[in-house]
Amino acid sequence: MQTKAYAVQSATTPFGPHTIDRRAPGPKDVALEILFCGVCHSDLHTARGEWAGTQYPCVPGHEIVGRVMAVGAGVNRFKPGQIVGVGCMVDSCRTCASCKDGLEQYCDGPVSFTGTYNGAVGGGPNTYGGYSAAITVDEHFVLNIGHAEKDLAGVAPLLCAGITTWSPLRHWGAGPGKKVGIVGIGGLGHMGIKLSHALGAHTVAFTTSAGKIADAKALGADEVVVSKDEAQMKKHANSFDLILNTVSAPHNLDAFTTLLKRDGTLALVGAPPTPHPSPAVHALVFKRRAIAGSLIGGIPETQEMLDFCAKHGITSDIEMIRMQDIETAYARMLKSDVKYRFVIDMGSLKV
Ligand code: NAP
Ligand code: ZN
Ligand code: ZN
Repeated sequence: MQTKAYAVQSATTPFGPHTIDRRAPGPKDVALEILFCGVCHSDLHTARGEWAGTQYPCVPGHEIVGRVMAVGAGVNRFKPGQIVGVGCMVDSCRTCASCKDGLEQYCDGPVSFTGTYNGAVGGGPNTYGGYSAAITVDEHFVLNIGHAEKDLAGVAPLLCAGITTWSPLRHWGAGPGKKVGIVGIGGLGHMGIKLSHALGAHTVAFTTSAGKIADAKALGADEVVVSKDEAQMKKHANSFDLILNTVSAPHNLDAFTTLLKRDGTLALVGAPPTPHPSPAVHALVFKRRAIAGSLIGGIPETQEMLDFCAKHGITSDIEMIRMQDIETAYARMLKSDVKYRFVIDMGSLKV
């Protein structure tokens, strides 16, 4: 199927119209018309070649909500007309220990999981993501959406920003009695605040943008700290069970490890193109603090998060854009100027 899309042809060329070929659905495939696609900072890192290994042409987009157009003969979980989601993965080996545990994002297969765009992690043919009119995906990687139709644009970012914060919050036990920090109030961070709050944790937002304080409270933060203000930071020393760091640029991690209490964890989800300055060992050893990382989330926990959000009326705070406005959106995202996720109305690709 010839399908309209938006692509970059190199790290230094702007986005423009492009045509891709989508496969006709095989027996286990679901073909969907894309209604909305969120704009993740990973799209920008990839399109601009900031991480190693971008394949061009590059069609990003892994926060996809769409309507099923057709299903293969072996598909019984989905039917035409149904609203569904697709996140960051479209395939994995299905047989390794991680896949069997429903943690496909940590697939140990020869080339790890296949990204919705830019192909398999570690190599393999290119794949094209959600900045397009349609996509065909194996049903294993298609999610049920329980939200009302009017909320669907705000559901799209749950497929990456939502699950990337949900998975570590759940893994490290965010909930009542726990003090949880969220660093960086962007697409991931604003979902981190909403989800940590909904899970019942005492939630503290850290921002470099003083202008986001009121918003962070409205999103569910119990407290907001301007991270450039050392006096404000010091008040929280030795107090956090978990700090989730979503920042997209390298920065001093010691400022956050020292806020952890004994056995606390600084979980990194932000993936800057260049390394953070090496953290101070003393800040870690004296209180058995840990620095960890976390990658998106598996398919079962993505469904769990979507169901939780539908039940609790949680969606992302979005600014809707047309596909043609993507360059402006990237420029604003780089200035931390988005409240709090751009979502592309894919209807704009048709005009
Ligand atoms: P985003 O919307 O641009 O948000 C990033 C936030 O980080 C900004 O809003 C800003 O928050 C803060 N920030 C930016 N530059 C900073 C700097 N130099 N120093 C301190 N704070 C800074 O990006 P996103 O879509 O949430 O993605 C965040 C990062 O997570 C990206 O690197 C992305 O690739 C990565 N990511 C990782 C995974 C994973 O599985 N681990 C999944 C998705 C995305 P304030 O204005 O509040 O300071
Ligand atoms: Zn993403
Ligand atoms: Zn696997």
